[in-house]
Amino acid sequence: MTTVLRMAVDVPLRRLFDYRCPSGVDAARLQPGQRLWVPFGRQRVAAVLVELASSSAIPEAKLRSATALIDETPVLDPSLLELLLWSAEYYRHPPGEVLSAALPGALRTGAAALETAEHWTLSAAARTGELPPLSPRAHKLRELVELLQRQDAADEAALGALSSRWRDHVRELEKRGWVRRLQVTPPAAPRVAVAASAGPEPTPEQRDAIAAIAAAAGRYAPFLLHGVTGSGKTEVYLRAIDAVVQRGQQALVLVPEISLTPQLVARFAARFAVPLAVLHSSLTDVERLRAWRAARSGEAPVVIGTRSAIFAPLANAGLIVVDEEHDASYKQQEGFRYSARDLALARAQRLSIPVVLGSATPSLESLERAQSGRATLLSLPGRTGGAKPPAIHLIDLRRHAATQGIATPTVLTIKRHLDAGGQVLLYLNRRGYAPTLFCPSCGWAAPCPRCDARLTVHRRDGRLHCHHCGTEQRIPELCPTCGDATKPVGQGTERIEETLASLFPDVALERIDRDAVRKRGALEAALDRVTSGEVRLLVGTQMLTKGHHFPDVSLVVVLNADQGLFGTDFRASERLAQSIVQVAGRAGRAERPGEVLIQTEYPEHPLLAQLISGGYDAFAAAALEERRSASWPPFARVAVLRAEAARSDVPMEFLERARETAIALAVRGVEILGPATAPMERRAGLHRAQLLLHASSHSPLQRLLARWIPAVEELPEARKVRWSIDVDPLELF
Ligand code: ADP
Ligand code: ZN
Ligand code: ZN
Repeated sequence: MTTVLRMAVDVPLRRLFDYRCPSGVDAARLQPGQRLWVPFGRQRVAAVLVELASSSAIPEAKLRSATALIDETPVLDPSLLELLLWSAEYYRHPPGEVLSAALPGALRTGAAALETAEHWTLSAAARTGELPPLSPRAHKLRELVELLQRQDAADEAALGALSSRWRDHVRELEKRGWVRRLQVTPPAAPRVAVAASAGPEPTPEQRDAIAAIAAAAGRYAPFLLHGVTGSGKTEVYLRAIDAVVQRGQQALVLVPEISLTPQLVARFAARFAVPLAVLHSSLTDVERLRAWRAARSGEAPVVIGTRSAIFAPLANAGLIVVDEEHDASYKQQEGFRYSARDLALARAQRLSIPVVLGSATPSLESLERAQSGRATLLSLPGRTGGAKPPAIHLIDLRRHAATQGIATPTVLTIKRHLDAGGQVLLYLNRRGYAPTLFCPSCGWAAPCPRCDARLTVHRRDGRLHCHHCGTEQRIPELCPTCGDATKPVGQGTERIEETLASLFPDVALERIDRDAVRKRGALEAALDRVTSGEVRLLVGTQMLTKGHHFPDVSLVVVLNADQGLFGTDFRASERLAQSIVQVAGRAGRAERPGEVLIQTEYPEHPLLAQLISGGYDAFAAAALEERRSASWPPFARVAVLRAEAARSDVPMEFLERARETAIALAVRGVEILGPATAPMERRAGLHRAQLLLHASSHSPLQRLLARWIPAVEELPEARKVRWSIDVDPLELF
């Protein structure tokens, strides 16, 4: 009986591929999680062994052979492999792509998983004197052999000391049978499991949180750590991690993309005298592989990373922390659409370890988890040092004159704070100069040729940019329709910067958005200018709402709260409340209570009223009630089948067929809504539509998806569109 290898190949197909064992490899040596070279089409690719089977649906004569075994030890341990296969099922994504997402690029292309150092030693024949003697004139070769007679083996450094041409000599001796090469794995660096510095004495609330996490060691226990910015959440993580490291275990810390700054890493490094493995998206292949190896060997007891670090290999896991768990960057929005926050829970469960989700503005999912008893709530009620929460006021934009988007009372308040020596932060989630280039004579507004959207005016490069597809154009002098002069309408961060510069010409000003901090290190430099006090006025986008605390900021201005008030998405209000509370939380400290102004045309809107009277908790309680009565997540499960194509009718045709297919499967408990075109139907030249699946719980939805997606894949219409399935989508379109 032949052994059949079920392999995951990194291709967009929802299946595994069968191979025979490579010739010369004993099938008994094979374990799931090992990589092998396999022929695929005309290529040879590195694929991961998922399981060993005794038979295949492919006739034996047609079954191809794997070429060679790459790993002695699996690159994916059984628990991680199981999590990944489960994720592939849950998110209905091709298993080969899912497994690939968990591996550094270098390993996907066959690099060695273990760091090896080459050593050379004398061959058995050379040691027993069976070889013809070397010529007395071959001085260098003889020297080399003498060295290897004195010591068992020599490495690059030892041989390099002998001669700069040592590689040639070694090759010559190898050819003549005198020397052979050894691969030796270097020992892991010794671990220094001591705290480098102690940190502040925890408050009673912090102590309770730390104790609760420590008491859960060795079993699955999810915690929601809820506390405003500056309440000492990071201190709780550091103490909990310290306990884990002291026990000789590892902690995995996930942070949002934008918060993984050198400052954060420095704070961890200052605390622990142990190596950190840092994993994020802008590492080189070599850096990523090195960090992956350090996590896998256990050499790095603390592993910090962004979304995909949830797949970091861990030799001896003790704790997972997800900071700012509400952050949207934990959800991958393309390809394998997983939520690293949700997978953190799934992974902790498999590893039987505690997992801490922390946030000042927890997601409604996590709050519900805590309320229903499926997670333990740990609250940090106030700021450390007794700083008061900032006072929040609304500025009614309908009642007050505004200078380019800044109302007169706002200008006066900014002036008061600057005069008192404070810093002021203005938040506007719109980069560029103005969102529209408009012709007052005929009403023309510069459109994106590829999207159903307008182009944004940028002063930086004097061009029009589409924020949806990246299209760029020069700014037309005159209206292309009527020939009159055009003008920029509305405000972006560049224009606010300009307005502030003219209102407060003597005050140092910094703009922080994606355009301003494009270069590597530019964000850190700008943040340093803010924390050092050099900069007094600060304007920026979403970037400012995350990760940084500015103790000298005494006033925060939300320039336009209305962008999110009437969003079509069921999560629009949650996101708006989170960004307002997050940006408001950047302000103030003990000696300098903060003030927050929110500019709006809808001061009576219930969302704003709740935020002001009862803070995020009041908002969340009301929002959860709304979700419950409307039956939206977390009280229901949804999945979205999206489709796009250049021709406008094609996506809807495909989705109609997909809908019929779903109905024919007759799975009870799943509602099929749509198809409907996206609110912004055309993007980057493609027309977009979607079908929504809604179920009261997870299992009927998964039952349907398991049978439906394979059927959708087979639809003839599927070949005419780009389609994707998104389980637990963050946004509906
Ligand atoms: P968060 O992560 O909730 O924003 P941090 O842990 O960063 O809060 O704490 C905010 C600030 O308060 C930091 O400067 C931190 O060093 C300090 N801090 C935290 N806990 C304490 C404590 N128990 N005593 C004194 N200072 C503390
Ligand atoms: Zn015109
Ligand atoms: Zn566009």
